[in-house]
This record gives sequence, C-alpha cells and structure tokens, in this order.
Amino acid sequence: MTARLIDGNALAKKVRGEVAQQVAALAAQGRQPGLAVILVGEDPASQVYVKHKVADCESVGMRSVLDRHPASLSEATLLQRIRELNADASIHGILVQLPLPKHIDANKVIETISPAKDVDGFHVASAGALMIGRPGFKACTPYGCMKMLEAIGCDPRGKHAVVIGRSNIVGKPMALLLLQANATVTICHSATPDLAAHTRQADIVVAAVGKRNVLTADMVKPGAVIIDVGMNRNDEGKLCGDVDFAGVSQVAGWITPVPGGVGPMTRAMLLVNTLEAAQAAARA
Ligand code: NAP
Repeated sequence: MTARLIDGNALAKKVRGEVAQQVAALAAQGRQPGLAVILVGEDPASQVYVKHKVADCESVGMRSVLDRHPASLSEATLLQRIRELNADASIHGILVQLPLPKHIDANKVIETISPAKDVDGFHVASAGALMIGRPGFKACTPYGCMKMLEAIGCDPRGKHAVVIGRSNIVGKPMALLLLQANATVTICHSATPDLAAHTRQADIVVAAVGKRNVLTADMVKPGAVIIDVGMNRNDEGKLCGDVDFAGVSQVAGWITPVPGGVGPMTRAMLLVNTLEAAQAAARA
C-alpha cells in the first residue's frame, strides 16, 4: 500500500480563506479581530515563528500587534503588559512566544492571560475546559490535527487512536480531543515499554515526540492514519518528523508530510482561535 498524503499546506490555505471571509464580516461591523504577539529576547527560531504569525494575521485581514522586549525584561513588567492587553478591547487574542528567558516563570505568564484571550489554549482554564468537555480554546497543534482527520473523512468514533507523547501542549490535549471524538485512546510516552505493541493496534497514530524514526513501518497497522507532529533535523539538516516517512507511507492509508503537514495547520488554527475570540467578544 502507498499512503495518501494529507496536505497541510492546502488545508491550511482553505482554513485561512474561510477565516478571511469571517474576519471581513466582523471588520465590516467595526470589530476587526486583533492578535497581540509578545516576544521576549532574541531566540532566532522564536523570531521566525513570530514573524510568520504576524504575516498570517495580515493575510486574513486581522490586526496584529508585535510586542518585542529585550531578554532582560522583568517578569513584573511582562505581567503588567499582559494585564494592559487583557483590558484592551481591540485585542482579542494574546500569545506569548515560548520559551521565555529563565528568570521569567512561563506558567505565571500564561495564567495572567485572560482565558477569553488565550488563543494558544495553554491557560489552565483552557486545559481544564477541554478535560471536562466544556467550551474553551483548544491548543492549536492538536486542534489542527483534528481538522486534518476531519478533512480526510476520518471519524475517530470507535477507532483506536495511539498518541505518542504526553506534553501539555500537544500529547495530552490531542488525546483528550480524540477521546471527545469517541476514539479509544492510548497515550504512550518515554516509559512505555513496548511502543510497537500499541501502535500496531492503532487505526490512528499521532506522533508528538521530537525524535526521528520513532515510528517505523513495522510498527504500523496497514491502512492506519498517521499524523506526524514532530519537528526534527535529519543528517543533511533538513526538517523531518518523528515518522520514518519513506517506510511508513508504504503501509499506512494516510500520512502527513514534514514539512507541509501539521506545521501549517498549527498556524492556521491560531487564526481560527483568534477569530473565535473576536466573535465571542462581539456577542458579549
Ligand atoms: P515534549 O514536551 O518534549 O514532549 C515529548 C514527549 O515525547 C514526552 O511526553 C516524552 O515522554 C515523549 N517521548 C520521548 N521519547 C519517547 C520515546 N522514545 N517513545 C515514546 N515517547 C517518547 O515535546 P512537545 O512540545 O510535545 O513536541 C513534540 C514534537 O512536536 C517536537 O518535535 C516539537 O518540535 C513538535 N511540535 C510541532 C508543532 C507543529 O506545529 N508542527 C507544534 C508543537 C510541537 P515523557 O513525558 O515520558 O518525557
């Protein structure tokens, strides 16, 4: 079998198109959605991510505010800045680019963001809402993965999904979203003794580890849907995922590429969350 590709670029473009239409409708009522992106320090990868997020906003007609600060910024000043943005009615989403410098407590920073503006979905209120099945912002990466499943007509109901990785930003919310969608979910992690025994049973595998070749062809059930969240570099320095793409795509039914898979969808879902925040503010 040769797997069909889940094209994250194409799907993200479609999502951005839908967002742009709804942004235009809000803007026509004088309610243009606005996203504040806070960057502290000079981390090169963070600078690139932030630049993309700002460009994405512009591409759909959203307003974006890039709030840059030196690495020496005090925690108290950052918290004060977030409180100002919480109170700013023209800002509907607040995103603090991680990682933060070591002297700043990232949890404290995230908890200071108003849950109504937590478009990254990292606030404990958003995580708790997901846990108990209440409305709230979903973390962008797992939300994007769910959209990808939907796009290929893969309903998780009754399926066995294996999530590899249990981080608060990917693995755990991914498992909860799949559970909410009525999958039977197994979560694997670094202390799972026989990963392959689990993945071989899976109709859906989501790999969110950050290590190359965590999932190889012999670990995959024929026809399974494989979502590769991982972002790694191969020996040539090229971006690659957690999945041995060449091997696994001979066995799986569907597979996401890296690059061009989950990454673009993560960015698109930030726009969806910001739009949802602006729509909720307009209703309030
Ligand atoms: P993380 O916080 O480092 O979590 C990695 C998880 O993988 C942990 O739960 C860890 O288990 C587990 N793990 C490590 N080695 C394992 C192994 N050999 N077998 C099974 N599980 C193992 O990473 P993250 O933030 O979730 O990100 C994961 C990957 O996704 C990274 O490559 C990251 O760059 C990428 N990512 C991509 C996007 C995107 O938009 N494409 C977004 C976010 C993240 P323990 O909990 O036991 O340590």
